Amino acid sequence: MSAPATRDRDDTPDALSVLNSVFGLPAFRGAQEQIVRHVTDGGNCLVLMPTGGGKSMCYQLPSLLREGCGIVVSPLIALMRDQVAGLLEAGVNAAALNSTLSFNEASEVERRLLAGDLDLLYVAPERLLTPRCLALLGQAKIALFAIDEAHCVSQWGHDFRPEYIGLSVIAERFPDVPRIALTATADEMTRKEIVARLGLAGAPSFVASFDRPNIRYEIVEKQNAPAQLKALISERHAGDAGIVYCLSRAKVEDTAAALTKAGIPALPYHAGLDSSVRARNQDRFINEDGVVIVATIAFGMGIDKPDVRFVAHLDLPKSIEAYYQETGRAGRDGKPSSAWMAYGLSDIVQQRRMIDESTGSDAFKRVSIGKLDALVALAETAGCRRNRLLGYFGEEVTGNNCGNCDNCLSPPQLRDGKVAAQKLLSCAYRTGQRFGAMHLIDVLIGRLTEKVTQFGHDKLSVFGIGRELNEKQWRAVIRQLVAMGHLRADSEAFNALKLTESARGVLKGETEIMLREAAPGTRVRASRDKSRRGDLAPRAETKPGDAPLQAALRAWRSEIARQRNVPAYVVLHDSTIDGIAAARPATLNELRNIPGIGDKKLEHYGDELIALVRTAET
Ligand code: ADP
Ligand code: ZN
Repeated sequence: MSAPATRDRDDTPDALSVLNSVFGLPAFRGAQEQIVRHVTDGGNCLVLMPTGGGKSMCYQLPSLLREGCGIVVSPLIALMRDQVAGLLEAGVNAAALNSTLSFNEASEVERRLLAGDLDLLYVAPERLLTPRCLALLGQAKIALFAIDEAHCVSQWGHDFRPEYIGLSVIAERFPDVPRIALTATADEMTRKEIVARLGLAGAPSFVASFDRPNIRYEIVEKQNAPAQLKALISERHAGDAGIVYCLSRAKVEDTAAALTKAGIPALPYHAGLDSSVRARNQDRFINEDGVVIVATIAFGMGIDKPDVRFVAHLDLPKSIEAYYQETGRAGRDGKPSSAWMAYGLSDIVQQRRMIDESTGSDAFKRVSIGKLDALVALAETAGCRRNRLLGYFGEEVTGNNCGNCDNCLSPPQLRDGKVAAQKLLSCAYRTGQRFGAMHLIDVLIGRLTEKVTQFGHDKLSVFGIGRELNEKQWRAVIRQLVAMGHLRADSEAFNALKLTESARGVLKGETEIMLREAAPGTRVRASRDKSRRGDLAPRAETKPGDAPLQAALRAWRSEIARQRNVPAYVVLHDSTIDGIAAARPATLNELRNIPGIGDKKLEHYGDELIALVRTAET
């Protein structure tokens, strides 16, 4: 490519002009400029930025600005493919080395690397660790190493990849080449592990705000999850692309089938499917408009699709990190998007059982339980979800109402729950801490079930003392007491609910208990006004009359994407389409000013785009 080819000392292109000429972007975002300067000057660093924050630019630009080729370690082949396609579109000499290449194709990439013909090379970690690849890199001129998704080195984390541990070899073998580690997972422990494993002690960390203001967080009580999901999609996300996460393969299949039956284009994705089916479903999700993918967590890391409008969880993830990362796949393009989760007591019990039954060490189990507890507390909070999330990641929050989460939009009713809590805990205690939620509720409400009479629980003082609440309300009480840590479901005893140490304070009346009221109906609480917050999200100003032009631009983009066999967003981002539709450029110069139109795109598509704008005007 042209700009970085001019590498004479006096004529080094500056970062901003490359950002503009190659990527068509007018300005840096947040700490990008600082990071680019630091790495271009040869420094190591750790970059923590949320999904969609613009991490790629932090290593792509220095790779173009420094002599040699930037080596990007990236764990997912699909991500590499799309990144390389996007870079090629922008006129950057990029390639990937991974297991999908034939021997000849790989040899050609290697030849180009040694010839100094590549600006960026994406390499899978296991490939990089082979003696052959390390030797190859030893002979090449390397601009930098970027370790993407760096949290994969964390053994405690949710995306641990053993081959990432081996990446410590980079610092050992290439001590003079700058290293930049990037991740969207920001908890302290993961951060420390990355620094230790990748030899970044003493290097600065650049930490961006983790807020994703365009994402609306909502956590609802699980009642009839498939119906709740269908309502979410039909009422608020008809025709939108979305991801639905479930824990088990069977549930993935069932949910995808149920959505399809309801006329929603949905595809399953899990590790039990044939890899060709998985690849096909993923491709359709990425390339087509409005496809819903129903998946286990095997799906999504490294999916770069910018216009995912909703992420729905039908099961509880393992931790806030996992929740944040999965929901973060919504709305990379900055447009209003939903992160919606339905959850109930059985979810806590199930996750808890998975931890108890895992083969991990006691220390691992303790950490896992702590992480689960933090997520359950997020699910049960009556306060702002966003503030909770950001607080968890150690971020200071200003103000206590984000205005774009369910609790801020319709604050839950809180009531004094001391008496209800005492009744419930006494009931668990008097029945010997051997029974699950259903039976305790039967006793409290005074139902003469077979089990109640069999155990003589109708003779207890707690029998029928809770008639003021219904079954649903008692479930909410139990869930919150579990979330608060006063009650615990024992997975080794058929999920019997047992009192914890802290329950004593509640029974004695020393601990204040505020409970949120169970939501009244079974319907999904539809957010009444979809556009209410939409206007706060960054968005190009489009006039109503632009709709036909926008549609024409999209149709044109789909056609080009099909011809070139790349995702539509690789051709032009939605925001660039919006920008063109709003500005209606009449000349190439005007078109060049739209963010997302760099030199190469102008050269390739400029005339066609101007013609489209003109036709739409007549
Ligand atoms: P991440 O890897 O952090 O999830 P990306 O690097 O994929 O994020 O960037 C997310 C989106 O932000 C992309 O569409 C990218 O084009 C856009 N972007 C990055 N930097 C800028 C910038 N300086 N100005 C405008 N858009 C940017
Ligand atoms: Zn809020």
